[in-house]
Amino acid sequence: MKTEQLRGTEIERAALILKTGGLVGIPTETVYGLGANGLNPRAVEDIFRAKGRPQDNPLILHIPDPSWLEWYCEDVPDTARKLAKRFWPGPLTMILRRKRIVPDVVTAGLDTVGMRCPDHSICRAVIRAAGVPVAAPSGNTSGRPSPTSMADMLEDMDGKIDAILDGGDCQVGVESSIIDVTANPPRLLRPGGVPLEELRAVLGEVELDPAILRPMGEGEKPRAPGMKYRHYAPKAPVTVVKGSPARSAQYILDHIDHSYWEGVICFDEFADWYPGHPVERLGGAVDCWENARRLFHALRAMDEAGVKRIWAQSPGTAGMGLAVVNRLDKAAGFHIVEV
Ligand code: AMP
Ligand code: MG
Repeated sequence: MKTEQLRGTEIERAALILKTGGLVGIPTETVYGLGANGLNPRAVEDIFRAKGRPQDNPLILHIPDPSWLEWYCEDVPDTARKLAKRFWPGPLTMILRRKRIVPDVVTAGLDTVGMRCPDHSICRAVIRAAGVPVAAPSGNTSGRPSPTSMADMLEDMDGKIDAILDGGDCQVGVESSIIDVTANPPRLLRPGGVPLEELRAVLGEVELDPAILRPMGEGEKPRAPGMKYRHYAPKAPVTVVKGSPARSAQYILDHIDHSYWEGVICFDEFADWYPGHPVERLGGAVDCWENARRLFHALRAMDEAGVKRIWAQSPGTAGMGLAVVNRLDKAAGFHIVEV
């Protein structure tokens, strides 16, 4: 299959492909998504095939306007309305009770569905033109870092999907926050583009799913990377070093193998500490929004450089830091050093 590369203006073409059961790479403010008509089970099945994604991992339904929510969801609680009013369009996915019209293949058979209204004008224009909700996971091959540009998405999906629509680089850079509003209190399933603190400011109590941050052992003892916990992962093994930026930078300098092709993902302040090694910058040590924007690209760039091992600095968990930490920890299969 030839994958068409569409300009951001070719909305009607992209919409036609969606309407006729095809797959389109779609830009959003978070990451590029791999979209299909969310009401067409055959088209949605193709998403799983193109990504190599396990069938038991449900997809998110994307809508161009908050008012569409009622068509696909039942018993929408007040908490959801409040969140939609405050954060939509935006990087927040809400888990709600689904209506029957939503196919099983979208929800992996669950009686809930993840709903999001993205804050990206091209994305919403395509969905509106297609006239159907668009089911989309991130547009990467299952397990790989999510794509944050058209080039990233082509790398994984060229020849496997009908088209990719160019919407420029993603402004958030990590996926949406996912909150289950059918739980009481609401529960954060995945940290993302809306920080936990902002969700708590609207809702009061929000529980954290334990899988977001697994408790680590004492001191420097890194956990063996369990494959089933490794997501967002580049080809080379990743070691995340946590602690103050200066200490983690020093730890990496002390432990990097100069006779081996090892790369470093670090804050801008330390970018010239590792001459002779491929280095990717995450932005400033206090700028977790920039860290989020650059993280997935940095992981992919390490693959391109062909490094055998990756060392990465990590921000703290405040604000957008939580989403960055969660992606880094999973990319490393929880291979973490605390210094
Ligand atoms: P992706 O955007 O590729 O990360 O895929 C969508 C994410 O949404 C996955 O992590 C799913 O597990 C999650 N998700 C989608 N629908 C549901 C649901 N009904 N309940 C819980 N999680 C969901
Ligand atoms: Mg994904």
